[in-house]
Amino acid sequence: MPEIEAHAERLSHQFAGRVLAKFQPFNFTALKTAVPAPELAEGLPLLGVRRRGKYLLIDFEPITFVVHLMQGGRLVADGKRSANPRGGQARFVFEPVERSDGSLDDTALLLTEQGKERRAGIWCVAAGEVETSPPIDRLGPEAAGITADDLAARFGKKSMRLHGFLRDQRMIAGIGRRLANEICWTARVSPFSTTTSLGATGAVSIAGAIADCVADGLSEERSRATMSLSRERICAVHNQTGGPCRRSDEHGPDTVRAVEYSGYTVNYCPSCQTKGKVLADNTTSKFLK
Ligand SMILES: [Zn+2]
Repeated sequence: MPEIEAHAERLSHQFAGRVLAKFQPFNFTALKTAVPAPELAEGLPLLGVRRRGKYLLIDFEPITFVVHLMQGGRLVADGKRSANPRGGQARFVFEPVERSDGSLDDTALLLTEQGKERRAGIWCVAAGEVETSPPIDRLGPEAAGITADDLAARFGKKSMRLHGFLRDQRMIAGIGRRLANEICWTARVSPFSTTTSLGATGAVSIAGAIADCVADGLSEERSRATMSLSRERICAVHNQTGGPCRRSDEHGPDTVRAVEYSGYTVNYCPSCQTKGKVLADNTTSKFLK
């Protein structure tokens, strides 16, 4: 999740050191935990914001706020601090600080979620127990930096389709639907190949593709002032159904294909990834998981 990593870096840069005045929930479903109390962080400086899997971790000395944005959530600087922000879920209000020009900076940090799904959330967890408490306790190791050996060991544990394995946060954490498509294409491997058949050789290609795709995504996201929207992200195959494969000069003209599932689309190039075979793309496969 390069967009989350880069966003954590931006938020850290802007808010680290600011003293929390108040944690203000707007929606009773936004805070997923009852203890420890968010108020434990009030009066204390924000240590920083970091990422684990698809989560943002907002660290104070006694507690960490774990934030999941899901699809429609955003954690944004909030200079207006309106009483009833649109889509507002919760707000971190900080003590004002003086800017270099003498004006006061009372910018807050606001979690918003547009749409009706209300799936974004905040967990308040004791510092030091983040890795062993929900929701982080279910995550596998970070995809970024995973070695071919680690990956091969995980491939061997259970036979899964590669695309499903990459998206399964319990196996490796931090890869979503877009990156899973891009990684398979980068590695020239079928998204439907099984992990047990990929073995150690496949793990080398996939580990390399993960590193390349994460690095590309990070450099793109770090050049931005705000987190990108999914439609703004540059992709070789993801959401490119019917478009030409970028390797058409190499393997001859071919187009990006799609297999639709209920919550996501697998995109691939037959020439690059499936030895030219076009996989079933019809309504009967639409709701298979
Ligand atoms: Zn291709």
